[in-house]
Amino acid sequence: MRSLFNLAVLLLLPLSACSLFEPEPATATFKTMGTRAAVTLAGLENEKLAKAAVDAERLMAALEAELSIYRADSVVSRLNSLAGVRPMEVPEHTRRLLEISIKYGDLTSGAFDVTLGPVVGLWRPKPGQTPSLPTEDALQEKLALVNFRNIKVQGSEAFLPTPGMRVDLGGIAKGYAVDLAWQALRRRGAVNFMFDLGGNIRVSGKAGSGLPWSIAVRSPFDTSRNLANVAMPDGWAVATSGQYERFVEIEGRRYGHIIDPRTGYPAAGLAGVTVFAREATMTDGLSTALFVLGPQKSVPVLRKTGAEAIFIPDKEPPELWVTPGIQSRLSLLEEAKVTLLPGW
Ligand code: AMP
Ligand code: MG
Repeated sequence: MRSLFNLAVLLLLPLSACSLFEPEPATATFKTMGTRAAVTLAGLENEKLAKAAVDAERLMAALEAELSIYRADSVVSRLNSLAGVRPMEVPEHTRRLLEISIKYGDLTSGAFDVTLGPVVGLWRPKPGQTPSLPTEDALQEKLALVNFRNIKVQGSEAFLPTPGMRVDLGGIAKGYAVDLAWQALRRRGAVNFMFDLGGNIRVSGKAGSGLPWSIAVRSPFDTSRNLANVAMPDGWAVATSGQYERFVEIEGRRYGHIIDPRTGYPAAGLAGVTVFAREATMTDGLSTALFVLGPQKSVPVLRKTGAEAIFIPDKEPPELWVTPGIQSRLSLLEEAKVTLLPGW
């Protein structure tokens, strides 16, 4: 089903940067979780690359088998099929992700809702059918099933109490996977590296002597162009959410994959949100939520979490609305207006 969506190019592009006397950083890539993963090690650690990539690939495969809703036999698919029937014993990653998702639901006043699965499903094209708008009745029926507060997690068991309820970890699982891969790489002795899972990125150390890792913010209006670079401190993560990344076209109009839980319709108003923080789980969860909340309502969430962000409103020419911590780390590559986030 996923392939029926238009999968546009990622907004974030890791940039290599190193000194004259060091080898270039080297990258190994592999496909996983319906996207592309890339392990990049700074020049002096190149010899660890092959092993690091094999380890990361194995870890991603295990997580996908547990968390994916595209696999009928995954833990999350089984939990969904037992909705309204009985609780189920769930392994650690599922339990933790449910707890984290509930936390982000509370933190964002429900803008992030991991139980949106039934509504997300309505907007997903059915194989062999021309995509059509969901009816208002169908939307209301599915919206009635949505409420992250109803998820029960007790000990090692989880339960979705209403028949038809479904969790969809698509808004946060990749970030969580990035943090696990990052920790595993550090445990195995890598110091200066970057891990990228479909645009969810976390860096460690530096790209070369004295040079921080740098990521490029792509233009949501033309993904072949980079608007700016951002210098990343050690340990930082970054993620972007935007409707241009995945959408369905219905009667000539594009409907994006990020849904506003208040209405059941795709969230609108922004072209993209890029979030920076100390963990990729947070940048993934927040980028989805802040896309829904919009700039003004995102301010308290950003202040509370200490995360930084770049908002790009959905109008051209591009403008970047940024938090104060980003201003000093940003180098513009194209002409674009940069202003402090309104409401900060
Ligand atoms: P991301 O690309 O990280 O912003 O995540 C988008 C994915 O998260 C979608 O494809 C859905 O699977 C799921 N999703 C959509 N809207 C929401 C939302 N408001 N809260 C939580 N997950 C969502
Ligand atoms: Mg996300």
